[in-house]
Amino acid sequence: ATPMALVVGIGRAAGQGVLFRDAAALERLGSVDAVVFDKTGTLTVGRPKILSSTIDDAALVLAASVEQASEHPLATAIVKHATEERRLTLRPAQNVQATAGQGVRGTVDNRVVLAGNLAYLQANGLSIGKEGEALSPNLPSTGTIVYVAIDGKYEGYFVVGDELRPESAAAVASLTEAGIRVVMLTGDRKAAAEAMAKQVGIHEVIAETLPADKYKAIEKLKAEGRVVAMVGDGINDAPALAAADVGIALGTGTDVAVTAAGVTLVRPDLRGVVAARELSRATIRSIR
Ligand code: ADP
Ligand code: MG
Repeated sequence: ATPMALVVGIGRAAGQGVLFRDAAALERLGSVDAVVFDKTGTLTVGRPKILSSTIDDAALVLAASVEQASEHPLATAIVKHATEERRLTLRPAQNVQATAGQGVRGTVDNRVVLAGNLAYLQANGLSIGKEGEALSPNLPSTGTIVYVAIDGKYEGYFVVGDELRPESAAAVASLTEAGIRVVMLTGDRKAAAEAMAKQVGIHEVIAETLPADKYKAIEKLKAEGRVVAMVGDGINDAPALAAADVGIALGTGTDVAVTAAGVTLVRPDLRGVVAARELSRATIRSIR
């Protein structure tokens, strides 16, 4: 039988907006000594905006029309930029395939449109070449880049910026002070991830990961003897959330993430991770 203290703990946590799936998750969280955070949508607000772009309106319509089918925050940013800022009318897209952590491709008006990161374009046989390399030094350090190709030809890129959640740095500081190893795990490019990590006070960054790499990173920490909590919001985080000793999903994130996690934060405030850990420890102390 579940000790009464755990039942009480779960109830108390729920009152604070922290939903534990079961008593085991509440018990395990107290012994966590490594917390891994996804970047986009978890440490950041996840409402990225287009900061700059080399894409003309004709290509923007095509890119946004394909991105309409993706629920990624970057996709939303591109669609909003096209429809709200540029006031463009989108077209129906066919055969849309989104690859988690990489990008999206589809057909619009019989043209094959690709939007995604460098690895994604390369995997689709595109070389961005000199043009792509030359732009890197001019990019804002924290900006995410979405490259666009149409009919097998590189078109240009968007620079997309996202803000840290106001509470993220405080949550990271509390965990670090408690002696917990804090890691950022992201599919974004290394330079952008490291610049963001610095702002939020995280010293360990694993970047340019695919969903399967996120999962492997968690397995690796566990193999090192760490008791690992993973905090994430996206479909791309689901394997890692499931692999962690404790998966913590943002309730504002995708359903897939919530389903894969043992804990859900009702409010997207990462101080909830600190509160949940303290509650878990207090509960365990009251039992032993
Ligand atoms: P994070 O781990 O920070 O949440 P993701 O794993 O979701 O980031 O995405 C990693 C990278 O994949 C993004 O930085 C972006 O370059 C690319 N990407 C993913 N989905 C899309 C999309 N729908 N459109 C364009 N690029 C995408
Ligand atoms: Mg995310």
